[in-house]
Amino acid sequence: MEGRLGANGATADDEVTSTVLHLIRTSQARTRSELSRVGNLGRTVVSRCIRELIDVGLVIDGETTISNGGRAPRELCFNADAGALLIAKFGATAVSVGVTDLAGKMLATAGSAWQIEAGPDESLDYVVETMRSVQPKAAGRRVWGVGVGLPGPVEFATGRPTSPPIMPGWDGYDVRARLGVVFDAPVWVDNDVNVMALGELRAGAAVGERDVVVLKIGTGIGAGLISEGHIHRGAQGSAGDVGHVPVIGTALDVVCRCGRTGCLEAVAGGAAIVRDGSAAAADGSSPFLADVAAGDRSIVVFDVIDGAAHGDSACMTLLTTAARHIGDVLATIVNIYNPSLVVLGGAVTSAGDSFLATIRQQVYLRSSPLATRDLRVVRSTLGQLGAAIGTAHMVLDELFVAGCLADGAPLWDLLT
Ligand SMILES: [Zn+2]
Repeated sequence: MEGRLGANGATADDEVTSTVLHLIRTSQARTRSELSRVGNLGRTVVSRCIRELIDVGLVIDGETTISNGGRAPRELCFNADAGALLIAKFGATAVSVGVTDLAGKMLATAGSAWQIEAGPDESLDYVVETMRSVQPKAAGRRVWGVGVGLPGPVEFATGRPTSPPIMPGWDGYDVRARLGVVFDAPVWVDNDVNVMALGELRAGAAVGERDVVVLKIGTGIGAGLISEGHIHRGAQGSAGDVGHVPVIGTALDVVCRCGRTGCLEAVAGGAAIVRDGSAAAADGSSPFLADVAAGDRSIVVFDVIDGAAHGDSACMTLLTTAARHIGDVLATIVNIYNPSLVVLGGAVTSAGDSFLATIRQQVYLRSSPLATRDLRVVRSTLGQLGAAIGTAHMVLDELFVAGCLADGAPLWDLLT
């Protein structure tokens, strides 16, 4: 790297330059005078930091701003084209891969059906191949970071999946080492619901909010918790793993994929709805689903949703019961966590408004009046894209963390 930046190891100056970069990157300050004011920094210091950031290509002098007389100040911009990110987001049965700029904007995506059960070696070989197919859209920009979202618990500090119930062979696998070697870039891995929550926070229904619960109701159920504007991962990274809390009043013979009985997702997740829908088709209690089953394919969750929309009472009961169980558990989270917003996402939330209304009703019924006074419960606005966008933001947050330009930080390593 040219200039002084990082030359003497971690210094207080690097911290200040990192702060200036953060203010420009997050649009909290766009001109030199704004940087002085917002960052409480002297003009000489600001000028030196900007020179360094321009030298290493992280900041560019942009458009001239409108001024009330006198010389118009130049507007400073973060150079999102300085590098690229590669991201992959796995679900249980599909994977999406993308390449983004350094602002998290998708430049190209590719997605396909993929069984996570295939194990880490085969799955990550496939991801590497797909990442290489989208990488040319970054037009030769160096890969600055790789992000992966996985459908199971991940120890965030090491990026290793930890006893994931639906991912045989992945337990403790070193995903960071596997991809880091291939792309010569730092790698971060998180749970798919955490990255979905980050996506909603930065670009979706939760923009501008500080305390949010994002509940994903897909094949399984999980929550991403945002506290004071940041993902709350907990001590080991398992915070928000609400799919496996016991649901009161359910049959204890319902065995969950985690091996325990009576878990929320075992009675109210997409897989549970399909299981109960298939039973309703077999015993004739759902004429709609019996028709589907008579065809040449097995029942999927959208059939149950479709059946409910067509007035099939067994389908309606299945969804209402699931919504009540979900609402009960969500009420507990709301009582403990006191969010201002709950975002519901995942395939099952495409069920009609009455599904959401039942969840809402249950939350309001079972939470304290203070916790629900200003609480909003809304549907995700990003849908499937949320987790991919969030995976890019996870990488950006780690790359541009406080002190990111100090010797030894991942960003510093990339620039030197
Ligand atoms: Zn379970």
